[in-house]
Amino acid sequence: MGVFSPGTLRGRVYLMIAVLLAISALASGLLLFQLSQSRDTIDALHNDRVVPLVELKGVSDAYAITIVDTAHKVADSKLAAIDGLGVVVASRQKAQAAWQNYLNSPLPTEERALAARIQPVMARADAAIADLEQLLASGDIQGVRAFREQRLYPAFDPLTALLDDLGHSQQQATLTVVQRSNAQLRNAMLSSIALLLVALLMGLVLGQRIGSSILKGVNRAVEVAEAVAAGNLKPPAESPEETRELARLQGSLRAMGRQLGDAMEQVQDLARRDPLTQLLNRRALEEVLGLAIGRNKRGSSPCALLFIDLDHFKIINDQFGHAVGDEALKVASERMRAALREIDTLARYGGEEFVAVLPGASREDALNVAERLRRAVGEPPPASLPRDLRLATSVGVALLMPDDTQDAVLGRADNALYAAKAQGRNRVVLQQA
Ligand code: GH3
Ligand code: MG
Ligand code: MG
Repeated sequence: MGVFSPGTLRGRVYLMIAVLLAISALASGLLLFQLSQSRDTIDALHNDRVVPLVELKGVSDAYAITIVDTAHKVADSKLAAIDGLGVVVASRQKAQAAWQNYLNSPLPTEERALAARIQPVMARADAAIADLEQLLASGDIQGVRAFREQRLYPAFDPLTALLDDLGHSQQQATLTVVQRSNAQLRNAMLSSIALLLVALLMGLVLGQRIGSSILKGVNRAVEVAEAVAAGNLKPPAESPEETRELARLQGSLRAMGRQLGDAMEQVQDLARRDPLTQLLNRRALEEVLGLAIGRNKRGSSPCALLFIDLDHFKIINDQFGHAVGDEALKVASERMRAALREIDTLARYGGEEFVAVLPGASREDALNVAERLRRAVGEPPPASLPRDLRLATSVGVALLMPDDTQDAVLGRADNALYAAKAQGRNRVVLQQA
């Protein structure tokens, strides 16, 4: 069937859907990829920057606040020297651990340079703290006071300043990363929108093209239908796919044509027949009689007409009922039909009246046929009718004349029938000369 062949309409629709899906998938993939990249960047930022920064805050807290504060408290005798020692040792250990951790984290170059500058300042501060720890350990409050006046701030001020610089530089680095990530995300969104717009545009263009090929297909179908209707059963195809499609279309059209023809015949036949007896009706009789008169006018062949009326049919109806009357009409029709030749026409003229047209029949032929027909009707009833039902018929015979009309010949036959009735029924009477 060539479902995926791009030559067929269906193939083209599938191809278009596939292309649009691919482009949309590409756009969504790009966006998703950039989103996950951004999330990775933010995660890395948190782990590599924010966490060490928080710990670095611990460093500056430990040095700049806790130790300075403890030195002051002990010097002012607000804290026992031994307790002060505990606070200072704990702070120094915490600060050292945080600093080490920070140095181990992945640092940008400028930050690493800054950290290298801090290192010696940190060492000097550490040496000062070691001295402070000794003073605290020996309970030398005077020594602590002197330390506060002369060494505390010179040891810590440069460190605090450098740590502030470090925090600032780290904030800058973080901001740069965030801005870069935002820019990438924005670019990815713009690219995705551009791709989706391209897909939309392609959809419109392809849709339009497919629409026109559908129209083309419909036009071709009309062409083919017209060609088939005109009897050309093999209109030229434009491609192998179309050859196959046309073949299927032609098959369907031919089948439809046959069905339509059969249906028309049935309808026409129904319109020409009497539903009870299946004989031709009066309208169809007029056609047949018209043709016979035409032939007779040209002098080519004689023709006779029988006007038939069942005898005392009203009594049959009264005696046996209308349903039996109907059955009797069918039986009489069938018997008359059988008594006629193949070329003769028998029609139900109305009620229990019938007309037979006998082409080529001479006067003698017509009388013989009429007599045969009369006898056939009068046969004993078949099993479908009551045994005591007796059918009989009277027949008027007329011979077609060269300048006859339908009314004239039917009138003569009717007159002859009337005479047959008048003479006692169940007989054949020929028209008056
Ligand atoms: P005659 O010998 O003078 O022709 O007598 P008749 O009774 O046949 O004539 P009449 O015209 O008085 O009656 C015809 C009867 O045929 C009356 C009508 O009910 C009956 N008839 C006509 N068409 C049908 C039919 O389709 N079915 C049945 N059951 N009866 C019909
Ligand atoms: Mg009658
Ligand atoms: Mg009658």
